[in-house]
Amino acid sequence: MPRSIALIDVNNFYVSCERVFNPSLEGKPMVVLSNNDGCAIARSNEAKALGVKMGEPWFKLKYLARRHGIIAYSSNYALYADMSNRVMEILRGFSPQQEVYSIDECFLDLTGFARHDLTDYGLEIRSRIKQWVGLPVCVGIGASKTLAKLANHIAKKNPEFNGVCDSNAMTEQEWNAWLARIEVGEVWGIGRKLAPQLNAMGIQSVLDLKRADTSTIRSRFSVVLEKTIRELNGTSASTSKKRHLQTTDREFQKLRHADHGPAKPCGIRHPLHEPCRREAAPTTVLCRLRPRLHPYQSVQTG
Ligand SMILES: [Mg+2]
Repeated sequence: MPRSIALIDVNNFYVSCERVFNPSLEGKPMVVLSNNDGCAIARSNEAKALGVKMGEPWFKLKYLARRHGIIAYSSNYALYADMSNRVMEILRGFSPQQEVYSIDECFLDLTGFARHDLTDYGLEIRSRIKQWVGLPVCVGIGASKTLAKLANHIAKKNPEFNGVCDSNAMTEQEWNAWLARIEVGEVWGIGRKLAPQLNAMGIQSVLDLKRADTSTIRSRFSVVLEKTIRELNGTSASTSKKRHLQTTDREFQKLRHADHGPAKPCGIRHPLHEPCRREAAPTTVLCRLRPRLHPYQSVQTG
């Protein structure tokens, strides 16, 4: 019997957190900017559709933003950490084994939940988070973490799944047909650097990588990539991503436990805002400040 590992991931996390407290932002193109309003670190689907790239600097983006009315928010990490804690707390109730992977993602081990249809269970998780915290999540389920990540990707990109994709519930042919449509760079741990090298070897899709010869991959790349192929074939290599997990977790723990202090001034001029650090950019038209009165903003001075 294969393992059933679920990956629960909040969609466009920072943007979705802002929308919980300002529902008028629903359906509008928006981005959340990094510290000091440097670059876009979260994008709504509408902003993605307009071609806003992850990490794109605001100074490059603001012309596109002005043209399309993209709304930009300064980041509010105290709010995001609080929302994350609420989500993780709720998810803890769905399985005795939880691994928090990042601020908006966690794995749940659902192996042996024989009385549940796991797709229905995923839908229940989804509606609970939406109802209790107001955030949209997608659930991907697979025999390994790598497969759970891919299932989550499929659930997110294909509305017919209703936000939940269980790869264990598909036939081998059905699942392979999905993998054939996904570029190899989408696999957890492959990224932009390895993808071109794999492409050059004729490995274009996730299915190509799944079927690749493990010993060739091991000798040309690394044992980590070999383990990824095993994970794609359903063998759970729980230690393979340990290093990565620890790193991400450390970053996340900093966020969770940090004393955030007063919010940093952002570089945007607005009559209600704290003194601006930068003098630049007449971005007032595009950037709306968060309403000052909601409870998570008590850290702001003034
Ligand atoms: Mg996410």
